[in-house]
Amino acid sequence: MNYDRVYNFSAGPSMLPEKVLEQVRDDLLNYKGTGESVMEMSHRSKEYMSIIEAAEADLRDLLAIPDNYKVLFLQGGATTQFSMVPLNLMTKSHKADYVVTGSWAKKAMKEAKKYGDVRIAASSEEDTFTYIPELTKDDFRADADYVHICFNNTIYGSHYPYIPDTGDAPLVADMSSCILSEKVDVSRFGIIYAGVQKNIAPAGCAIAIVREDLIGNAPESCPVYMDYAIHAENGSMYNTPPCFTIYVAGEVFKYIKALGGIDAMHEIDVRKAKKLYDYIDSSDLYTAPVRDKDRSIMNCVFVTGDEALDKKFVAEAKEQGLINLNGHRSIGGMRASIYNAMPEEGVDKLISFMQDFEKNNK
Ligand SMILES: *Cc1c(COP(=O)(O)O)cnc(C)c1O
Repeated sequence: MNYDRVYNFSAGPSMLPEKVLEQVRDDLLNYKGTGESVMEMSHRSKEYMSIIEAAEADLRDLLAIPDNYKVLFLQGGATTQFSMVPLNLMTKSHKADYVVTGSWAKKAMKEAKKYGDVRIAASSEEDTFTYIPELTKDDFRADADYVHICFNNTIYGSHYPYIPDTGDAPLVADMSSCILSEKVDVSRFGIIYAGVQKNIAPAGCAIAIVREDLIGNAPESCPVYMDYAIHAENGSMYNTPPCFTIYVAGEVFKYIKALGGIDAMHEIDVRKAKKLYDYIDSSDLYTAPVRDKDRSIMNCVFVTGDEALDKKFVAEAKEQGLINLNGHRSIGGMRASIYNAMPEEGVDKLISFMQDFEKNNK
């Protein structure tokens, strides 16, 4: 179907699969014969219960989430997890180690400082976050309550090519911009969290996958909404959840399962990213600053080396229906976010635009 849609390379909110949008449209006024929209439905109704239960079951299936982890649908985005994590986990030594690999990692670290003894275990800031540090157990304090990393750095376009060994300290990972793009061994993590508006659903929800022993340790002074235990005990229904967003997330999970699951999704993602980086590496005009093995397959950052030319690139791309290619306002240049829902044709069209632009701006 042609809806005159553009290819949106925004880092988030970002594109949703067209098939999912069509399904949502078909369900919009009357969800499966209920006579009402999911937007109007009681979150306690049996129809809605089956939506949220199926969403959780499909996510568990996609990521092979072990039984000793809870899946929580929460509000406040990934940003609220920056405070929920220390509030719930900094309860023994009150120490936490953070790895600073970009702006989001830094924001998470700053927030945690309000709650205890936060140490930067490693940082790649001295090299403008163009790489992921090589970390070993010795980089972390043995008695840290947890270690926090940002697995995919949305703004700088880097990604961990490995899962760090943190010894006994639980590893907490912000996966907002890479969740569902690759298989991860969930059992290596204490908590995985993600805002949904990058790779899952419209904005309004964060998903936290929390190992059970990390739940129930928040101090009494913890605000009720910030306590993982409250959400775990109430099946993410302590209060009204972001019903419509969770429903769309559930449709996206079904869509990925129908494609063949995470492995099939990953194969497509890798193919799209490889094309784009291969072209950039072969070009005389563009360069990608992130170290080869640490490059993100979701957020591809590149520059021409000339700020005025970068601006021209972004403006001319927009005229071709390739929108939001500007880099984050803090670093400039270009960034093509090519999440799961970006069709391969979108990447092909971008590369062909880049070739033309290179020819015309020699
Ligand atoms: C977008 C993003 C955030 C912030 O997400 P919100 O849901 O807007 O709070 C945090 N971390 C990463 C890695 C992100 O990409």
